[in-house]
Amino acid sequence: MTAARGPLRPLYAQASGSPIRAMLALAGREGMVSLAGGHPDPALLPAEWLRESLLEVAGQLQGRNLQYGATEGLPALREASAAVLRQRGLAARAEDVLITTGSQQAIDLLARVLVEPGEGVAVESFNYPAALQAFRFAGASLVEVPTDAQGMDVEKLEALLRAESPRVLYVVPNFANPTGAVMPLARRLRLLELAAQYGVTLIEDDPYGELWFDTAPPPSLAQLNQQAGSPAQVAYMTSYSKVVAPALRLGVLLAPADIARGVVLAKQAADVHSGSLEQLTLTAMLASGRLASHLDMLRPAYAAKGDTLDQALRTHCGGLLEFDKPRGGMFIWAKLPSSMPLLSTQSWVDFGLANQVLVVPGAAFSISGAAQPWLRLSFANPAHQALRQGAERLGRGLRELAAQATKAAANN
Ligand code: PMP
Repeated sequence: MTAARGPLRPLYAQASGSPIRAMLALAGREGMVSLAGGHPDPALLPAEWLRESLLEVAGQLQGRNLQYGATEGLPALREASAAVLRQRGLAARAEDVLITTGSQQAIDLLARVLVEPGEGVAVESFNYPAALQAFRFAGASLVEVPTDAQGMDVEKLEALLRAESPRVLYVVPNFANPTGAVMPLARRLRLLELAAQYGVTLIEDDPYGELWFDTAPPPSLAQLNQQAGSPAQVAYMTSYSKVVAPALRLGVLLAPADIARGVVLAKQAADVHSGSLEQLTLTAMLASGRLASHLDMLRPAYAAKGDTLDQALRTHCGGLLEFDKPRGGMFIWAKLPSSMPLLSTQSWVDFGLANQVLVVPGAAFSISGAAQPWLRLSFANPAHQALRQGAERLGRGLRELAAQATKAAANN
């Protein structure tokens, strides 16, 4: 007799939960500094702007606002979101955009509608784990494209496209999670060329592009593709989570019409439509015209936090971590020296508990899940003083690890 399978499909039964979520469960402990979460700074979330808009919406609520709405999203929010995309240089009309429940849902729905189980999805060496999870749950086989400090190495991509024929390529060209990398213009153009040539649909995920510190990133793949007459298939998505608030759970998808049609069908099956009260509130927020000034406040505020962590790491972790100064987004991607042992994710949790500082080990972002000589350090959430303290504790903990490694090597 074969062993009975449990209630869960093996794909879910065997999947591990997000190690980052496990870290976050520890983040609230007394005295803990968490450089682990990629969450915005609560002090920079627009509580007052949101409250005013919420009250405005509450004052105008009628029965008809409480009805089911269109799967594509509230017409006024689609219009306002198309205007946000036009601000970013994209050609977009209201009817071209879909409102999703966070950009996470757009990734999930695209995975469902674009990838047949067993087909390949090309991804960078290090990725946002929930995107990998969505592709895996869709049955995709993940194809790793080597990645360096400038994002995907497109020169190595062509051989992979020939050998593995992936259907889809998922990429975060701006201030990627976890690497913080920005893909240069030349790579973007080459990627588009290859995508058109090999018939690969690009999923461009851009939650961080507006959070640049000194210079805006190059034009999006979607914009460059439009400028070239749209030879490639590009589904572009962005999120209101980092530029307004994650609590709204609202994202925007701009995709070719046939892909959008598939996504609407999948969304009808998933949640019918995103919450109308959140959509009304965001519509009121955008109508107030304050998004631009909010971004003007956010950019230097996050730049200052990036600077604080960068400086503190240079002071306290010199020789123990190698990293670039952040140019935008929320992350520093730091490399450990080769003399340091590769630790399991659980060991990094133990390290966090022992040193009162949480970091996310590179394994969490890798395709194989194997230990990596990398740490993702987020400067977004903690206050400046906590960032300094976190770097100091990290330095102390890493020095201890290095000393243990030296001792172990000497005893061998
Ligand atoms: N893509 C990337 C690269 C992310 O880092 C995140 C969130 N951390 C998301 C998508 C999902 O964001 P949301 O669903 O809140 O829009």
